Amino acid sequence: AYVVTENCIKCKYQDCVEVCPVDCFYEGENFLVINPDECIDCGVCEPECPAEAIFPDSDDAAAAWAQANRDYAGIW
Ligand code: SF4
Repeated sequence: AYVVTENCIKCKYQDCVEVCPVDCFYEGENFLVINPDECIDCGVCEPECPAEAIFPDSDDAAAAWAQANRDYAGIW
């Protein structure tokens, strides 16, 4: 799955939400998150993010954000 990371905090853009084919973005406390159980790994959102905040969870730095994405998406 893809995850949203630090650069998204206070980002005003919603470009990612508009392009996601399965609508798996959710509002976190101060940034958007991706529900990893719904993400189909299409990768469409990654280049659309103006803040460069979206990475695959196979990326080491992004993996640290995976739990926050799960928590804010409402899954534990
Ligand atoms: Fe949505 Fe595809 Fe991005 Fe996953 S990789 S969040 S399915 S646009």
